[in-house]
Amino acid sequence: MYCMKCGAEIPDGSEFCIKCGASQTDLPVPAEAEVYPAYDAVPEGSRPVTPSNVLVWAIIGLSFACTFYLSFLGIIFSAIGLKKFKAYNESGAPYSTKVKVGGILSKVGLGVGIALTAIFLLYLTFIVVWLVWMGRYLPLDEIFSEIF
Ligand SMILES: [Zn+2]
Repeated sequence: MYCMKCGAEIPDGSEFCIKCGASQTDLPVPAEAEVYPAYDAVPEGSRPVTPSNVLVWAIIGLSFACTFYLSFLGIIFSAIGLKKFKAYNESGAPYSTKVKVGGILSKVGLGVGIALTAIFLLYLTFIVVWLVWMGRYLPLDEIFSEIF
């Protein structure tokens, strides 16, 4: 074996270096680095899901969810975000704050998207019913001048 400090060749199993005297047992052991073999085996450029993927889909999803008129798109994009979130976690990839935030935003986007889409559909139904009701009493062009 060789001395951990000076590199001199010393007898196997030595507790101290015969040359510099350094202890061969007390030296701090480097902290075991976290290893993600499945994830690390895939080259960075060809990883199916990166933390940024998860976050970007989540932000797009939540943004559309909040638009009211296009909230149904928010449901779709948030669902994609959530799918990426699950795929990332199942790929054996290391913990990532971006991914955690992305997962939360995707769930919020899904909830907001579903709620606002439901309200939007009720609103549409109300408008249609109201138009049909008004149509019995007013000619169509007057109805439109009432709305716009
Ligand atoms: Zn030594």
